[in-house]
Amino acid sequence: MFLESAPSPEKCLDLKDTFAFSCHKDLACFNACCRNKYLPLIPYDILRLKKARNLHSDEFLTRYTVYRLDHDSGFPIISLKMGDAPEKACPFVTPEGCSVYNDRPMACRLFPLGRSSGISHGGRTKEEFYYLLDIPGCLGFDEKKIRSVKEWRDNQGLLQYTEMNDRMLKIVFHDKRDRTKPLDESQLQKVMVACYNLDLFREFVFKTGFLDLYEIDEKTRSKINDDDNALLNLGFAYLDRVLFP
Ligand code: SF4
Ligand code: SF4
Repeated sequence: MFLESAPSPEKCLDLKDTFAFSCHKDLACFNACCRNKYLPLIPYDILRLKKARNLHSDEFLTRYTVYRLDHDSGFPIISLKMGDAPEKACPFVTPEGCSVYNDRPMACRLFPLGRSSGISHGGRTKEEFYYLLDIPGCLGFDEKKIRSVKEWRDNQGLLQYTEMNDRMLKIVFHDKRDRTKPLDESQLQKVMVACYNLDLFREFVFKTGFLDLYEIDEKTRSKINDDDNALLNLGFAYLDRVLFP
C-alpha cells in the first residue's frame, strides 16, 4: 500500500509511456506469480472480494487475510493470506488462472506495474507515477505486445481502485495527524471497521445513534443500506472527521 523505496528514475513511467508485456495461459510461467507473494489489500479490494465470495466482511477477513501494523504510517495493513509452504499459493489461484478475476485486487491489476499516488504528508498531491516491477522469471516481458501505461490502466479497470485508494491515503497522510504518535486502540478499531469490515460498519451505522449524530440525510441512508461503495465513502468521511479532531 505504501511505497517502501522510490524506484530509480529510469524506471518511472507516466501515462503515455509504453512497455512491452503480455500475460497468457501458454507461457511456461503461467500462475507462477500467484504464489509466495506479499499482497497488501486496499479497503476497496476487500469490498469487491468479499462480495465475489458472498461472505460477510468479518468472515472474509478471518479466512483470507493477515493483519499487521505498519510501523512507518502507524496504520493497519491487511494482506492476502497465502497457502501453506512450500507452494504458498494464493487462495484464489486455480490451474485455469485467477478464480476471482473480475474482482482481483488492485496490486494484481497493476502487475507488472507499481504505482505511486503522489499523495504525501498533509494529503498534498504531487504527480502520480507508475514504474515497472522487477519480476524474476516473468516471461511476459519477452512478448512483443506494446501498450501505454494509460491503456494498461484503463483495460485493467484500475481507475475505480486508484480513486478509492487515494481517498484512503489522504486519511493516512492527514494534515491534522501528529505522526510522532502511533494510532491508539480506539483509532485503530475505527479504521478497521470503517474501511475493512464494512458489513460490521453497516451494523454499527444502523444500530446505534450514528445516523442522527452525524445528521446523515434520507437519501444517503437509503443508499448505504445496500450499496457498499456508498458505505465505504461514508466510512472515509467518518474517519476524516473523527480520527484526528
Ligand atoms: S509471471 Fe508474468 S507472464 Fe507469467 S503469469 Fe505471471 S504476470 Fe503472467
Ligand atoms: S487474486 Fe488472482 S491474480 Fe491475484 S494473486 Fe490471487 S490468483 Fe493471482
